[in-house]
Amino acid sequence: MTAAVEQNGFGRNSRTMLRRLRDVMADTRAPQERLDSITSIIGADMAAEVCSIYVRRSDNLLELCSTEGLNKDAVHRTLMHFGEGLVGDIAARAQSLALSDAQSHPKFAYFPETGEEIYQSLAGVPVMRADRVLGVLVVQNRSRRQYSDEEIETLETFAMVLAELLANGVLDGQENKHDAPVRLAGQSVAPGVGIGIAHFHRPSTAIRRVVADNPAIEKERLDNAMQSVRSRIDTLLSAPDLAEAGEHRDVLETFRMIAHDRGWLTRMNDAIDNGLTAEAAVQRSRADMRARLGSVQNPYLRERLADFEDLTNRLLAQLADEEENGDVAGSIDDDQPYIVVARSMGPAELLDYDRTHLAGLVLEEGSATAHVAIVARALDIPVLGNIPGLLSEVNPGDHLIIDADNGQVLLRPTEDVQDSFRAGLRAQAETKARYQALRDQPARTLDGVDISLLLNVGLMFDLQQLDATGAEGIGLYRTEIPFIVRRDIPDVSQQTDVYRRVLDAASGRPVTFRTLDAGGDKHIQAFDHDPGDNPALGWRSIRISVDHPSLLRNQIRAILRASAGKPVDLMFPMVSTVAEFDTARSILDRELERAVRRGDILPAKLRLGSMLEVPSLAWQLPEILSRVDFLSVGSNDLQQFFFAADRGDQRVTHRYDAVSVPFLRLLRDISNACKKHDKPLTLCGEMAGSRIGAMALIGIGYHRLSMAAASIGPIKETVRSLNYSDLQVLMSRLLETQEGRITDHLKAFARDHQIPT
Ligand code: PEP
Ligand code: MG
Repeated sequence: MTAAVEQNGFGRNSRTMLRRLRDVMADTRAPQERLDSITSIIGADMAAEVCSIYVRRSDNLLELCSTEGLNKDAVHRTLMHFGEGLVGDIAARAQSLALSDAQSHPKFAYFPETGEEIYQSLAGVPVMRADRVLGVLVVQNRSRRQYSDEEIETLETFAMVLAELLANGVLDGQENKHDAPVRLAGQSVAPGVGIGIAHFHRPSTAIRRVVADNPAIEKERLDNAMQSVRSRIDTLLSAPDLAEAGEHRDVLETFRMIAHDRGWLTRMNDAIDNGLTAEAAVQRSRADMRARLGSVQNPYLRERLADFEDLTNRLLAQLADEEENGDVAGSIDDDQPYIVVARSMGPAELLDYDRTHLAGLVLEEGSATAHVAIVARALDIPVLGNIPGLLSEVNPGDHLIIDADNGQVLLRPTEDVQDSFRAGLRAQAETKARYQALRDQPARTLDGVDISLLLNVGLMFDLQQLDATGAEGIGLYRTEIPFIVRRDIPDVSQQTDVYRRVLDAASGRPVTFRTLDAGGDKHIQAFDHDPGDNPALGWRSIRISVDHPSLLRNQIRAILRASAGKPVDLMFPMVSTVAEFDTARSILDRELERAVRRGDILPAKLRLGSMLEVPSLAWQLPEILSRVDFLSVGSNDLQQFFFAADRGDQRVTHRYDAVSVPFLRLLRDISNACKKHDKPLTLCGEMAGSRIGAMALIGIGYHRLSMAAASIGPIKETVRSLNYSDLQVLMSRLLETQEGRITDHLKAFARDHQIPT
């Protein structure tokens, strides 16, 4: 046994050591604290000056997640590819490595931010489970230490324990942890919204050599690299979209001046004279600058430091690959929109990215005064800054939605949320262009019948569409969306905040809040219940709300609080029986009484409604209508239950048409009953947003239609070109004389009457 092994006595005390590691694994501290304990225990046990854990973050990327001995600032900042440097080589080959003189190994590369250049020897082992590399465990020593076989075996034993920890998803950076949708809040630094794939900005460049024999060669290399960087900056700054005068130009011109700073070049040449390579000299001047400015709070000086970091990264990239441009963007494979993820960024780094597909920038640090923000605003690129935990939550390649207007980024949003978002973006583009002219015109038929066109809203982003489309109000606010996009259940104050923003955005226009419609096609992470064999028919929506009254109570409490003095409409989804409605209503009544007792400001007017989306309610119309202030037909669900055809199953959705005699007869009966009981009726399913569907509905008496933003313009155009009484006659005739689909009849009518469809 070597002295080191005898000294740490792993052979004798192995059980004690493993027990200590297991204790750390089982304790309840934060993941990072536990990881840090492990590096310090292993480091001490191995008599190593450095012990670090690198964790696999995606297919071929490793991240320094904990270290004892290296610069702590490098944690979560140093990223390397498989195969890159010695650590990357250990991961790529899935084999242990022990070197007494690591720096002379051809694969050696050091990452300046880690400060590892002073360590001569290195031993590293892959952290593996079931043939998969989960990370790398490394120890380093200043002296040229010869690690013995026994020591490597010891390290491998520790790696096995660590593997259990990583594979169980206990620690930060572990792969299982990062597949759920997450919403992170941040500060809007440059407005706008975007959707794209996460691309990690990776400015740090590995340095292969530190010491040089020939200063003249190094100075020439530095000079050439500096020339290339300057000319690259000139090219970047001459981009036409940056040409206009403004704050961003001042920022960029200052940046250019720093690149020409003679004092900086002199300091780096002096370092070369002292025996450093060009890249080590660049790194030395960065370390000096960080030491001088690192702790200053003055925002102006902090931004100078960011400028400087940007230039340093450029120089290092240029020196690492003297053939290249010296940009730091890295390669982006796909031709699809992407969102850059970074801790912070210099003003020109953003310019290295291809702007045709750049959908946004999210920064763990970074504030509205950051230079990169000023440049991003000029380029109309949304930026969200100050997002704690961002880098450890995102995986490269994740889908991201940046919603800088509402201070949030959605990581790994579900397909549904992505679709709504894309639909929203499309709507934005469409409404802007084609229907701008109609925005302020009434949705009135040629014979003077007014049709209310309302908006279906889920994402905060949709709220902007109220003004953009000229919708009369919000006919359906889907309250489950804030639940779907997060891991936990939002508490009363978080919900109040959301609902208040909805009411503020509506600024006096009516808003109908639908209480939580969880389950079925709307999966909420926080309720991880067994969906059953038939989720659409199972424990969902109001059924969950009445079984968990606190959920409904909190939601109603938040809506009442948010409304403070404003009128609101509230409705319950998926009501199947009037008894169910009564139970939910009693929860509302209790909340109203409580609010009165507390002296809270009540809504100016509270109207209570029910959705009709379960067929059974259509046979309780007199009973339900005597209880509600209004009814809202959810045709999506009503159609799926009516035809027994899963709304999410493409094989059956097109087979059963809503614009067909049986379904429209049911809808007509509902409309007639509402007229008889003098109760307002809205329809808020997808059919309201299709031109033919809307025509059929208007013809059978539906004069309040709620739809996605993209549909408001087209439907208004259709409404304004039709004659209501003609349509009414047509619909009565079709429902008496036809069977099955009637879309073609409606299309023919539209053609004959020059109605756009
Ligand atoms: C509906 O079912 O028609 C409806 C509007 O609700 P959702 O689509 O949210 O289920
Ligand atoms: Mg529904």
